[in-house]
Amino acid sequence: MSSITTTNPATDKKLATYVRITSGEAQSKIAIAKQAYTSWKNKTYEERSKLMHKLADYLEEHKEEYAQLATREMGKIIGQSRKEIEKCVWICRYYADHTKNLLADEVVATEAKKSYVTFQPIGVILAVMPWNFPFYQVIRFAVPALMSGNVGVLKHASNVQGCAFALEEVFLKAGFPEGCFTNLNLSSEHVKDVIEDKNIVAVTLTGSDPAGRSVAAIAGQNLKKTVLELGGSDAYIILDDADLEKAVELSTFGRLQNNGQTCVAAKRFIVLEGIYDDFLAAFKKKMKAAKMGIPTDEDTYYGPMARKDLRDELHAQVQKTITQGGRLVLGGEIPKGKGAYYPATILADLKPGMEGFDNELFGPVASVIKAKDEQEAIALANNSQFGLGSGVFTSNLERGERIALQLEAGSSFVNKLVVSDPRLPFGGVKNSGYGRELSGYGIREFVNTKSVWIA
Ligand code: NAP
Repeated sequence: MSSITTTNPATDKKLATYVRITSGEAQSKIAIAKQAYTSWKNKTYEERSKLMHKLADYLEEHKEEYAQLATREMGKIIGQSRKEIEKCVWICRYYADHTKNLLADEVVATEAKKSYVTFQPIGVILAVMPWNFPFYQVIRFAVPALMSGNVGVLKHASNVQGCAFALEEVFLKAGFPEGCFTNLNLSSEHVKDVIEDKNIVAVTLTGSDPAGRSVAAIAGQNLKKTVLELGGSDAYIILDDADLEKAVELSTFGRLQNNGQTCVAAKRFIVLEGIYDDFLAAFKKKMKAAKMGIPTDEDTYYGPMARKDLRDELHAQVQKTITQGGRLVLGGEIPKGKGAYYPATILADLKPGMEGFDNELFGPVASVIKAKDEQEAIALANNSQFGLGSGVFTSNLERGERIALQLEAGSSFVNKLVVSDPRLPFGGVKNSGYGRELSGYGIREFVNTKSVWIA
């Protein structure tokens, strides 16, 4: 019998041990989910919305408990864990209030007496989810899935099993019927068996691109639709007319939020020649001043990474970048003592071909790149295998918008860090994945877009 033990990355203390379920046990749980679907799909939007509001209220009432749990399991600083739960509440209320409109029938004028497009649920959806926003990532998938009449089963990241079980409990406490949302405490090698289960109709994965490739290949073999939300190396172009203080402030927050482990974090800072040295000096000062510490201390700016193996991988990427000619401006040394800590680090003068330019650095490490002009900055930003978020800092909004439209990414923000918002679609292009979550675009990923023709 295999099990997983969770560990607090700030203290190295063991938290809890969970026995993994087998593929056979997963199959039984999926059969219960399928049974739940047969009645859940026939509920009205009003009935689903009522439960979704209860879910929002329950999460809100238990915000502190769940925030503390997320912080214990993956090291997020406590203020950001609270914000994560608040965002979950927002998503629940957004879809509770808007699903009926988002999925309203669309009448199409044809030669028919009546013709329209309707959106129907499809069944049991499997979600494979990461640890970096252990509540939000799951809610982002589950809430629209359930509001559209589907049901969900979750394979969560191993290191956040407490959050996975808490989420299952939240749905039950809110009054959702058993089987509408189920945690499968399964190891990743058994995900194949779940995808192949005849009762699973589609798969959504948020995580790294190797995991995405593996899951999508199995789903493809089984002709099951996938949505993939993968990694990124988001470029932020800092133009010479930018408000330097604001750009530095946002760059620091953007790189250190969630202890550097956000898919849409600012990762590659592409700075025009004219302000390169000034930006680097101010950025170094601000990154150095950011307090690394215990995630439950209210004045901590950033805490540990989620796991020591991830921290060690990041450090190896930093070292590789330096051997390739990258300049270490700040940090770059594993601190002594307990926890998966890694200091705020800046690598400068990076070029295509270097590790810190080409690959995602999923931790508190910034890649700074010099561009001689606007055109070169755009070309460098687009010279990436990824295309998740992107940004431009400038005081000329027209110029910012013009550049934003040329960036190859799922979103481009001007003078603001990319954030997800339930009203806007979220997702990527290139190796950042395909499909969208959130908004009307997200909720339509896992429905049958059905044409009806009455002659
Ligand atoms: P990960 O290692 O890919 O794990 C993600 C999930 O996939 C976990 O549940 C993991 O389970 C499972 N998994 C891993 N390999 C698998 C395989 N071969 N088959 C089936 N399941 C597999 O990623 P992570 O370290 O948790 O998250 C970091 C990555 O996620 C970063 O690249 C980040 O940019 C990306 N991300 C993207 C978004 C987005 O919206 N685009 C959002 C957040 C994070 P185990 O934990 O049991 O291994």
